[in-house]
Amino acid sequence: MAEAARIDGKGFADALRARIAGHAGEFVQATGRKPGLAVVLVGEDPASQVYVGAKARACHEAGIASFEHRLPAETSEAELLVLVERLNRDPEVDGILVQMPLPNGLDEQAVIAAIDPGKDVDGFHVINAGRLSVGQEGFVPCTPLGCMMLLKDRLGDLSGLDAVVIGRSNIVGKPMAQLLTDANATVTIAHSRTKNLPDVVRRADIVVAAVGRPEMVRGDWIKPGATVIDVGINRLPPTDDKPKGRLVGDVAFTEAAAVAGAITPVPGGVGPMTIAVLLRNTLVAAHAHAGLEAPEGL
Ligand code: NAD
Repeated sequence: MAEAARIDGKGFADALRARIAGHAGEFVQATGRKPGLAVVLVGEDPASQVYVGAKARACHEAGIASFEHRLPAETSEAELLVLVERLNRDPEVDGILVQMPLPNGLDEQAVIAAIDPGKDVDGFHVINAGRLSVGQEGFVPCTPLGCMMLLKDRLGDLSGLDAVVIGRSNIVGKPMAQLLTDANATVTIAHSRTKNLPDVVRRADIVVAAVGRPEMVRGDWIKPGATVIDVGINRLPPTDDKPKGRLVGDVAFTEAAAVAGAITPVPGGVGPMTIAVLLRNTLVAAHAHAGLEAPEGL
């Protein structure tokens, strides 16, 4: 069988970001202000610092105003909630993102619950999770929405396809399963207690792996021709030729690519989509706040 097609998440995300930049320019023309995203980082977690920096750069490139709030690790929950309240009221701020994980002692659910659901561009608030669950319009978490865009671009109509989502987290696995169900796929959610995981995955026309275990999904788990979306981002221990450690997904890429019909690489697959969808959600929020129709085709 021929080698699987590589799903170019980076290229797709770049094109989406270019469209967003165009719409952001039109938004400025219509309203006299830029769409705005506030990003809150508490503490010095190195990975979070990298993500927050990347989000600010992406905003800048797309013509979206970025308001960064970097708070010390000792920040109390009350102080953080005061900031969130202030951002909820700020008319320049369309989206609020509090970078997770928060330092120990801060209740992530309480902080998410304090964000105005109309500014919850991460889609983590229970109101937005509920809206997704009952099929109402709302903000959908960026990573699964990005995966869905790649799947629809690759496969078109997903009706009747068997999909297996590995992982049941609130930010990836559960909303992913919901989106696939809404797209008329037949969905199985697999997780750490699933029996015979390789056999479950072998049934799937679509596999979405969101586990956080390097190269756990092997090539012989994949149904020939299946579409494989690898959400995992895992850094392997350093070696002589890779002193920073190689990044790998949850899928053993080379093995799986020999069997699958199409597969996302890591890096360059799902990762770039997450930030592009964050910008998209911010642009949609800005239009809603300005009383404008959201642009088509996002
Ligand atoms: P999580 O730790 O919250 O959830 C992991 C899920 O995997 C759990 O539901 C658990 O039941 C399941 N699981 C654990 N061990 C398993 C096993 N042996 N077999 C089957 N299922 C098992 O993780 P998350 O936040 O959903 O993230 C998952 C992965 O995706 C991580 O590698 C994370 O870094 C990555 N991620 C990437 C992006 C991106 O932008 N590409 C965004 C979010 C998360």
